[in-house]
Amino acid sequence: MLTTPDFTEITPTADIRTHRHGNRAKCLQRLARLEMPVPHTVALSFDTVRAIADGKMPDLAALVGIFGPGALLSVRSSSETSDWGGPGTILNVGMCDATADALAKTHGPDVAGAVYTGFIRSYAVDVHRLDAEEFENPITPRLAKQAYEAEMEEAFPQDTTVQLAEVLRSMARAWEGTTARLLRQAQGAPADAGLGLVVQQMALGPAPGTFGGGISGAGVVQFVSSDTGEPQITGRYLPRGQGRQALTEGAAQFIESDPRGPALEDVAPDQVQALRDAHGLMRMRLREEMQIEFTLMDGALSILDAVRTPRSARAEVEIAVALANDGVIPREEALLRIPPFTLNGLLHRQVKAGAVRDVLTTGIPAAPGAATGKIVFSAAAAQAASARGEPCILVRRETSPEDIRGMHAAQAILTERGGVTSHAAVIARGLGLPCVAGATQLQLDHRKKTVTVPGRKVFHEGDIITLDGSAGEVLVGAAEMVEPALGGAFATLMEWADEFRDIGIRANADTPEDAAMAQRFGVDGIGLCRTEHMFFDSNRMTVMREMIFAENAGDRAASLDRLLPMQRDDFIQLFELMKGQPVTIRLFDPPLHEFLPRDRDGIRALAEALDLPVSRVAQRIEALQEFNPMLGMRGVRLGITVPEIYEMQARAIFEATVTSSRKGAPVVPEIMIPLVSARREVELVKASVDAIASEVRSKTGSDFTYRLGVMVETPRAALRAGEIAEHAAFLSFGTNDLTQMTYGLSRDDAGRFMSAYVQQGVYPEDPFRQLDIDGVGELMHLGAERGRTARPDLTLALCGEHGGHPDSVDFSRKAGFDYVSCSPFRVPVAKLAAAQFAI
Ligand code: PEP
Ligand code: MG
Repeated sequence: MLTTPDFTEITPTADIRTHRHGNRAKCLQRLARLEMPVPHTVALSFDTVRAIADGKMPDLAALVGIFGPGALLSVRSSSETSDWGGPGTILNVGMCDATADALAKTHGPDVAGAVYTGFIRSYAVDVHRLDAEEFENPITPRLAKQAYEAEMEEAFPQDTTVQLAEVLRSMARAWEGTTARLLRQAQGAPADAGLGLVVQQMALGPAPGTFGGGISGAGVVQFVSSDTGEPQITGRYLPRGQGRQALTEGAAQFIESDPRGPALEDVAPDQVQALRDAHGLMRMRLREEMQIEFTLMDGALSILDAVRTPRSARAEVEIAVALANDGVIPREEALLRIPPFTLNGLLHRQVKAGAVRDVLTTGIPAAPGAATGKIVFSAAAAQAASARGEPCILVRRETSPEDIRGMHAAQAILTERGGVTSHAAVIARGLGLPCVAGATQLQLDHRKKTVTVPGRKVFHEGDIITLDGSAGEVLVGAAEMVEPALGGAFATLMEWADEFRDIGIRANADTPEDAAMAQRFGVDGIGLCRTEHMFFDSNRMTVMREMIFAENAGDRAASLDRLLPMQRDDFIQLFELMKGQPVTIRLFDPPLHEFLPRDRDGIRALAEALDLPVSRVAQRIEALQEFNPMLGMRGVRLGITVPEIYEMQARAIFEATVTSSRKGAPVVPEIMIPLVSARREVELVKASVDAIASEVRSKTGSDFTYRLGVMVETPRAALRAGEIAEHAAFLSFGTNDLTQMTYGLSRDDAGRFMSAYVQQGVYPEDPFRQLDIDGVGELMHLGAERGRTARPDLTLALCGEHGGHPDSVDFSRKAGFDYVSCSPFRVPVAKLAAAQFAI
């Protein structure tokens, strides 16, 4: 057995470690331990490969010596986690004139010629990076060698150690390349991630019938579907093939007997059964679904490699749940095995089959799912849109690492260039976002911020499109969508997460549709209903505008009287959908001018609708303008200066409470006051809301209770949480505004410089995406502690966009919060993360 600091021969007892030799080497050793027929294999450690990249070649003569003269070798990469990738496998190292002659005698000249040519091509193109066109089919070994010699100005090397040195060097250096580094870092690899290499003796498959009459070839097989994770033998076998050729060659056969064509099982039933047995044993003992690469040499089965079966997000969940259901792994481990963000891949909406599709253009379907949003042309614009809560689609010529934060902020990515492995596609899949890449017809004008395709209208920034990443289509406008299928293994996994998690997960839901979606994800209630979103409907908008333009209290009351039944109906629907679960309704938050038009046409239309002179409308809009609206007349400030709005909302909430409680489970509404900074604000609103509650009680003859709470969104509210909590049953930290105000950083403008800030390490991450535990978190700790000291039964929650992020869930659990609230689609991620932290 060969063991030097540089090489370790893989045997059942060798000291092979994943963090030193990589995942593939470790897996091969496990197979050896299970007494699987693994060929002779040697592992090179991360340190050895690093030294090779630095120009220090180990003693290859010793390495080659152990395989014996004339052996053909494969070299495979072995990184710590297979997700981090690695350079592609090189086969048939050791092929030279003498080996080709020997092979021709045993396997026939065709096999020998094909293998030799293939190796020269791979050595030239993959190792020495020569032009692939020079080595295209059909070509003979002689011509291939000539092409090599012409390019390299030296003879094709005949010595295995020389060939191996070049192969190892090129693989070691490829790992250090910028693209490889970026790709693996996007998968979570640390900057110093190492690469191991595995050198294995090849079981060359000779022509059938020529070598003792046995069957020879190579194949790849897996036992579950990569799309669904359900049991299904898929794979291919190529007679006389090598490596993974079977997956790409048309002449490949099925594994199991199949009416569609010839199959390995027809001629080698015992070997196929042996593969089934090997799979079963691997599943039990490696506790994983494995894909097996195998060869048959004269009928003898060798298992060359086994890797985690490639899988979609859906299959990942299916496989983990099946392993737990079969008792192979405990439920806890099934939960821990799934990175929370993987669930995004299951949650996608799709464009409804049969929906009207106005296809603007097509590209490569690079990441599945569909999304509708406003066109944005830069990462900064995407971040700004996201901060405003507007879904957007990032349209770029191609993307680069500087765009990452914008991609995080977008609902989908569309690129003019690139394919399924482009930066945009790889990152989008990682993030679970739909992506259409390589939409080559797109004509982008970055200066004018427009996009079009020949013969179609010009689209501007802000125009709505739908991206269907599953079909590779760009659709004009919003398309009708279907929600993802969330039953089966996904539902089971969520049930298990519910069993283990120890923090509540609620949803931010503004409309009955959102609430229905939240219910499908099994939330513990609604943690934030932003009531102003209920006014965006055009009918209501008109009444709202009438209210804003009211000349006197009487006119304003008349408009509010018309809004009241609409709000009441909204709340009845929400209460009924949530079936007695808590619903937190936030009173009106934004400044009033957000409801008024900005441009000339809009002003004219409004003047017409309200039967007012244009000048009067323009004046009113002007009067409502603020220099800094985010810090202006919004939230509770509006509630105190124009109290009729909050009064109307409180009345609508209480009347809905009475109606819904009569029909079903008693409702205890939670009313939340936004943007509080002083105790007196809470006292004033509380007095008014209490008065309305008494009025509704006596008018309806029904009793009910309610809980009044405060949103902690200003640093002062966090600092004064003690006195505020005296009037509040709950405090919910609105981390969007709290982040904005703690940093003094505009939610709407930060996108412009966020990339530069993060790139230069000023902020470790965009604090609007990932909660700033150090600063904002410290304020939250302070607020939570002061609040609970004043009122031990105080409910604490987090309801900003951060709520669904695993880091925030972790923070909130540790800080003793009762729940986090996030958008419905982030609920599964939050639930799974919560369970993982609790395990
Ligand atoms: C917040 O500020 O965190 C919040 C939830 O409110 P909004 O995003 O509506 O300002
Ligand atoms: Mg807010």
